[in-house]
Amino acid sequence: MAQIPVVSYARISADVRRDEHGVQDQHKLNRETAARLGWKVVHEYTDNDKSAAKADVVRDDFEAMLKALRAGELPDGTAVQGVVIVAEDRLARRPGDYERFAEAITYQDGRVFADARGAKDLYNEDAESMGLFGAVISKMEVRKMQRRMRRSHRTRAEQGMPVGGTRPFGWKPDRLTLDPVEAPLVRQAVLDLISGRSLYSIAEQWRRDGVKTSLGNAWTPSSLKITVNNPRICGWREISKELVRGADGNPVVGQWEAIVTPEQWMAVKSIFDARKGHYIHRDGRIGHVLARDFREPNYLLTGFLRCGRAKDDGSLCNTSLRVTHSKDCVQHIYICPGKTVGGCGGLGRRGDMVDLYISEAVLAKLEEAQLASSDEPSDWPKQDEYDGAKDRLDVLRTQWTMGKVSNDLFFSTAAELEKQIARLRTEAQNFTASIQRQRSRSHTDVSEIRRRWFLPEEEGGLPLTVKRTYVREALHAVIIYPSGKGRAKFNPDLLEPVWREG
Ligand SMILES: [Zn+2]
Repeated sequence: MAQIPVVSYARISADVRRDEHGVQDQHKLNRETAARLGWKVVHEYTDNDKSAAKADVVRDDFEAMLKALRAGELPDGTAVQGVVIVAEDRLARRPGDYERFAEAITYQDGRVFADARGAKDLYNEDAESMGLFGAVISKMEVRKMQRRMRRSHRTRAEQGMPVGGTRPFGWKPDRLTLDPVEAPLVRQAVLDLISGRSLYSIAEQWRRDGVKTSLGNAWTPSSLKITVNNPRICGWREISKELVRGADGNPVVGQWEAIVTPEQWMAVKSIFDARKGHYIHRDGRIGHVLARDFREPNYLLTGFLRCGRAKDDGSLCNTSLRVTHSKDCVQHIYICPGKTVGGCGGLGRRGDMVDLYISEAVLAKLEEAQLASSDEPSDWPKQDEYDGAKDRLDVLRTQWTMGKVSNDLFFSTAAELEKQIARLRTEAQNFTASIQRQRSRSHTDVSEIRRRWFLPEEEGGLPLTVKRTYVREALHAVIIYPSGKGRAKFNPDLLEPVWREG
């Protein structure tokens, strides 16, 4: 029977209070333990913290042992699968040694560990029976579980990493780099859709050109719609129709190359959203009953404005305003529709002024958000609390190792501190990640949005659909209050944006 190769570790503690085994005694005991278990000691590591004991060779073997455990072999290539010690207190030299040892020995599966009392099952043993080392091991198990969790679908998405499934059309099999043939097709399709071409027409052309989906099928309008509607094409990710957002509320930017800009994707998406539930002809025309709803977003705020006029019973009319034109005004006018169609018919406002004022308000909101995010300190505000908890645990551990703290007190307090430290560590990681995401986000440049907001589209201005998306992200609605009889001067105080939270 092949013997399991293990290393023997011995340490003379600086704590002279204890009745010491000599180093050679410890190694002898370890060899006997190993032999009993059918293991074979392939190397002996020795440390000596007792500076007075000149007779013993002083070496920093603990670190060398951790290295061998992580590697699974000695520097000469001899395999190492475990460790034998006399008792667990031999392991602790400095605070943190237990964790580092546990991390190293559990680095690979199938490792063995024993003390003079016998073998300990690192994977199944009741943590309590293994003392502090057991507590550390069980913490390591929790960490392993967390690592597995981190590999889960959603988490990968949150880290902006590509997830499994069919190869997305437009990318190479690595899912990160663009396919030089497919990506330009997707980009052109998006541009064509924004300029009014139908899914049907594009899918037809792709079929004629022999373009196939990543599964080798012919394209249909619906498979094309799935492709261009997927935020992946602009570097974002969606799960269950929701954009995956970071702690800062902004979409997580993926590690893959984007085919189009977020604005272009939003433009396509809002085209489909506007058509949602509408009858669409094969040539892309929208059924006539709903055609007006689709045409109406020729105006920035259609669908966002609500009538703020009080009804006879004192409640607000709250009807969605419509767009109309009048002979004596070149601009469009937002009005509350007449009573026969559910409104009060008693409110109207100059469209250009409302659009301008709300544009400014939305841009100011974006600028405010950008300012707040750049203001954010890059130093984690709880660093002191974290360091303090770690120091307290270190001190506690040292005192416990020296026998100055009872087991009861140590284990109850250490567990609390470890929980607090783990929680703070997670917070710190989230904090760092969100800072990094913020810094990597390119579309937060509000000055660029502002510049393009008021430009005509043909001069590089934002498409109306994109501006409407920004408005939609910023506010639920704008309530317009009556301004009294006659042609009153435009008063922005009579517009009340209902902002979205955060
Ligand atoms: Zn009304």
